Formats: sequence, structure tokens, C-alpha cells
Amino acid sequence: MRAVEPEVRLVARPDVDYAEVSEYLAEVGGESWLERIDRGDLDDAQNLAEFAGRICYRSWEPGLNPNVTRIRTDQDQYLKNILASAHGSVLEHVSFSFVLHNVSRVATHELVRHRAGTAISQESLRFVRLDDLPFWFPDWAREDPELMARASGLLTQIEEFQGWMADHFGLDEEGVKFAEKKAKTSFMRRFAPEGLATGLLWTANIRTLRHVIENRTAPGAEEEIRLIFGKVGELMVKEAPSLFGDYSVQDGAWVPGWRKV
Ligand SMILES: Cc1cc2nc3c(=O)[nH]c(=O)nc-3n(C[C@H](O)[C@H](O)[C@H](O)COP(=O)(O)OP(=O)(O)OC[C@H]3O[C@@H](n4cnc5c(N)ncnc54)[C@H](O)[C@@H]3O)c2cc1C
Repeated sequence: MRAVEPEVRLVARPDVDYAEVSEYLAEVGGESWLERIDRGDLDDAQNLAEFAGRICYRSWEPGLNPNVTRIRTDQDQYLKNILASAHGSVLEHVSFSFVLHNVSRVATHELVRHRAGTAISQESLRFVRLDDLPFWFPDWAREDPELMARASGLLTQIEEFQGWMADHFGLDEEGVKFAEKKAKTSFMRRFAPEGLATGLLWTANIRTLRHVIENRTAPGAEEEIRLIFGKVGELMVKEAPSLFGDYSVQDGAWVPGWRKV
């Protein structure tokens, strides 16, 4: 048994091609928008969200659409209005990818219930053989010596059984077909505990992120997934402060200023 901590790594974020945007804006007369915005490494997410919103009303500047006589020039105000008016579909263009490492199958099983706006690639325990069993214990469990002794004993026994089965099935012997390894590895995973730490690549757009951060840090949500989505929330405040700055965090629960955008 190996004690682990759930980790969240943000591995991919939007990357706007400003040359292409510029050519498009030259055609529709909206070049002044590009002059107004910042273009630092961390600005692409918010710029893409604003771009998506402005394309709807041709609101790059007043007068391009005769119905638009004034515009919000401040990006923070513009994006807050998107949240306030629940125009969240424009946020679906802006996606982030996270490696969730050393998270249990308890957490991943709950996470995959969120379908809208996500992409998931999860470590396959049909293919990846178990040897040691990585496992997360919350602090309160670690402070209980008898619980820890019994839990470690049980996990060690399961590890030994995994090793015994691999020997028994001769999985590492010369010439064993991959299909046979796969079939037996899949059988063996049935004896793995649901708390086994594993990993996945999880991609979600900002609309989904806002919903899932609120949902999965709520006081009634499960302890580990609350921990994971608290970390996701902290990352997103840095990535897109105008789109995640409306949350207040109370005892680990992320409560948005604007719900269900
Ligand atoms: C504290 C807690 C306890 C839970 N307990 C249980 C439980 O005991 N048993 C259980 O089975 N599940 C449970 N769940 C899971 C829950 O029922 C949802 O399946 C999960 O939270 C996914 O959220 P979502 O439905 O908002 O889906 P998402 O895919 O995150 O969708 C986001 C939003 O898009 C819209 N949407 C998505 N799909 C559709 C659709 N097909 N039709 C119409 N609108 C759609 C909805 O507005 C939805 O809220 C629990 C969740 C939490 C947070």
C-alpha cells in the first residue's frame, strides 16, 4: 500500500491565433477590439470568451450593428455581464484540460456523471496491471491508529492476492498473448478496492467548470471530490479571474454569485 494525495495539474488551456482574429475583424470592421484587449499568456481564455460573445451582436465597437450604440469596453465588466445575463453558451468555447492524478475510483465514478461539456480519458485497469495499491486517507483517518493498521493490513492482503493471481495465471511467462493478459487483468481488477488511486485526463469548458466546481464542493458532496474541485477552483480563479471571481468560498464550498449561467 502506498499513501498518496490527490493532485490536480492543469495541462492545457486555450491558445488564440490573433493573426487570424485580426484578419476576420478587418473584414467586419472590429479591429479596435484587438487594440483594447491584453494579449498575455493567461489572457487567451477570457479573450476567447469575449470574442465569442461579441461575434453574436457584432459589438466590437458602436455602430457596426446599427442596433448597438454603446458597448462595454472593460473586459471584466463585459464578462461579468455575460455571467449576470446567463449567456453561458459563449463560455463553452473555452476549455481546459486537467490531469487528475492519484484520485480514487470513488471520485472518478462521481465525476463521469457530469457529461455536458466534458471529455474523459481514464487509466484502464483492464490494461494496466495493479501491483501496489495507491490509496488516499483523509486526515481524520490518519489520526486513528487502529483504523490505519486494519486498513493497511487489508490493502496489503489485496496486493498479495493481486501478485498471487498474476503468478497463478502465468501472466509474465514467455508467449502469453496480449488478449489473455487483458482478460485476466480485467478479472483481477474486480478485487481492487474502490478507493484505489488512479488517474484521468479531464477536459471541460468554462460553463461546465462553473457548474461542477459548485456542485462538487457543496457541503453535501463527497470528501475527496470536494478536495479535488477546491483545487480546480483555485486554478481557475488564476486562469480566468473575471469568470471565476464571483465565487465566495465558505468552509470549502464554492458558492457562485451567478448560478447556472
Ligand atoms: C451531493 C451529490 C449527491 C449525489 N448523489 C447521487 C446519488 O445518490 N445517485 C445518483 O445516481 N447520482 C447522484 N449524484 C449525481 C447527480 O445526480 C448527477 O448525475 C451529477 O451531479 C451530474 O450532474 P448534472 O446532472 O448536472 O449533469 P451535467 O452533465 O454536469 O450537466 C450539466 C447541466 O446540463 C443540463 N443537462 C445535462 N444533461 C442533460 C440532459 N440529458 N437533459 C437535460 N438537461 C441536461 C442540466 O441542466 C445539468 O445540470 C449526486 C451528486 C451530488 C453533487
